[in-house]
Order: sequence, then structure tokens, then C-alpha cells
Amino acid sequence: MGTVPGDDTCDTSNKIKIPLITNIQRYSLQDGPGIRTTVFVKGCPLRCPWCHNPETQKTLPEINYNVEKCIGCAKCAEVCPTGATYIEGEGTDSFLRFDRSKCIGCGKCVKVCLAGAREITGQSLTMDEIVKEAMADRLFFMNSGGGVTISGGEPLLFPQFTLELAKRIKNEMAHLAIETAAFCRWTDLEQLVEHVDLFLIDLKTMDALKYKKHIHGDLDVILKNLENLLETKASVRVRLPIIPGFNDSFGDYEAMVNYLDQIRDKIESADILTFHSYGEKKYQLLGRDDYEYRNVHSMTFKPIKPLVDMLTEVGFIPGVSLTVGGLIGVNTMGSASGK
Ligand code: SF4
Ligand code: SF4
Repeated sequence: MGTVPGDDTCDTSNKIKIPLITNIQRYSLQDGPGIRTTVFVKGCPLRCPWCHNPETQKTLPEINYNVEKCIGCAKCAEVCPTGATYIEGEGTDSFLRFDRSKCIGCGKCVKVCLAGAREITGQSLTMDEIVKEAMADRLFFMNSGGGVTISGGEPLLFPQFTLELAKRIKNEMAHLAIETAAFCRWTDLEQLVEHVDLFLIDLKTMDALKYKKHIHGDLDVILKNLENLLETKASVRVRLPIIPGFNDSFGDYEAMVNYLDQIRDKIESADILTFHSYGEKKYQLLGRDDYEYRNVHSMTFKPIKPLVDMLTEVGFIPGVSLTVGGLIGVNTMGSASGK
């Protein structure tokens, strides 16, 4: 299990290492039942080429630079301690340059940018601050059967943090979900079982070679973790991100359906998440030109209809144990005091 992430998440003084947080998103409707607040951690061991949250991939802070908002005042270049932001040329022939390889994410340029052209992704928060913000919508949780979801990035890249946050949220009597690709050590996932009400597990493909080559993960580890999790009788929804040209062929659908049919009685549902292009702008702001799905349109229902039909044929029930689009409605177990 040497290549499975999660080994170096505690510092030497044994304190819990808290990851940077890219967002604590309130009124989230697609990360579990009801109205939720989703905590996005920064850092992921996988590299899905279609990722629509690229700001959550790296663990270090990054600068979003929106050229369209820049008024060319050059204040950022004056304060940049590393020369990452600098002026090239003189007078009317001068240009503002940003060499991201020299950027240490100190945020000094963000503070002086009055135009709002720069912002930092990845906030350093204390556990108390995260819990306070995550629980700010407690009343909405109670009325909608919602709660808190820990997402990312990959929460299991920070197993001790995720465990501690899970305990704190459960102490607040809120429903707790965790969104994970399950590419982690089983022991890290196992320790969460008694604190988590719902696991949202991503299953991106049943093709191990494709998983390794394009996503940089190990499908065997993921399936073993999923199966171990089901043995514990944990509540699990399997999420199927369907991506044009990656896993939307008949063969891909068939492999997914065959597998899901075997575990159908042990999972709450299969949730189909169709590709959307909302992340494209984020790549631009991060200065990344490696987004492979540039100009690819968001998916419609038509290409996933065969998958819906195949899942229905093996017994998944649309609207109950089969959903499309991420909305899964209210928690029918009530306002989720949890386990
Ligand atoms: S974050 Fe710091 S190092 Fe990076 S460009 Fe801004 S001032 Fe320079
Ligand atoms: S401080 Fe902001 S507005 Fe001024 S040059 Fe830098 S990025 Fe542009």
C-alpha cells in the first residue's frame, strides 16, 4: 500500500495538519440530501482531466489572476518578494508579467490589488473556524434534512483532519456526508465509519488501466475500499461522473452496470453526474493551459439515456435508487441527528 496517499498528513509534533480550505459553500444542493454546507479541502492525489475544481488539486495556495479586471497599476509587482510578478520593458512598452513558477502564494499582491484582479485560493483556517462556518446554516439543515459535506479535493488525503472534523460536526448533531474517490488506506476510511452518515463514492471508470493512465489512481484499491465499506453497512451512494470520450461508450456503461448490479442491494443509489464545463474559467484564472476539455460542451441527457435504461433494467429505480444531475432531494430519515 506504499503508493496509497494519506501517509504524511500529520506533522512531527503529532498535531493535526489542517489542509487549506478553498471554499465553505453554503446552500449547496448537490453534495448530499437537503440544503448543505460543503467544506472543500485543497489537495487531491488524483488528476481527473475533466476536474471542474482545479483549485482543489494542489495542496499549496495559488493565485487566481483575472487579466480582464487588471488596470495595470503595477502595485502587485512592487510588493512581490520573489519577482514572480514583475514589469517587463519600460514606458508605453512595459507589460505586467506573472511567472507562476516563482510564486510562493504569499498573497501580498492580492492585498494591494484594488481592482480585485487577484485572489488567493486556499485559506488557512483553524478547526474552530471551519466548524463555526460549516454550522452557520444549522436551521436550514434542520428544515431540509441537510447537513455538512466534507469534499475537495480529496478529504482522505488528510485522514486525521477529516476524522477530527467529522467528530466535531457530529457533536453538533448535524448530518454528515463525505465525498471521496476512496483512493486511500482502508484504515483511514474505516475510522470514519462510525462518525459519517453518508459516503458519496466516485466511481470514474471500471477500466483499471484507464484509471491509472488518465487519473493516476489504482482501481483495485478503490474497489476494495468500497467493498470493505459496504461490509460495514455504511450508507453509500455511488456517484458516476460521465465524461465525453472517457467513459461514455456502451462498453463503459456495461462494465459499470455489471459492477453496480453486484452491489445494488448494499448501496443507497447510483447517482449519474454528467460532465459540465463550468470549470473552464477556473483553469484560465490559475494560468493553466492543460485543461483537456476546453470548448467541450456540457452534456445533455441523450448520451446518458442508455446508462439510465441499463441501470433501470437491473433494478435501480429512477428517482429512488437512481438519480441524474446530483440533486438527491431531502433526507427522508428526517433532520439527520445521525448515528
Ligand atoms: S502571491 Fe506573493 S509571490 Fe506570488 S505573485 Fe503574489 S506577491 Fe508574488
Ligand atoms: S495590482 Fe491588480 S490591477 Fe494592479 S497591476 Fe497588479 S493585478 Fe493589475
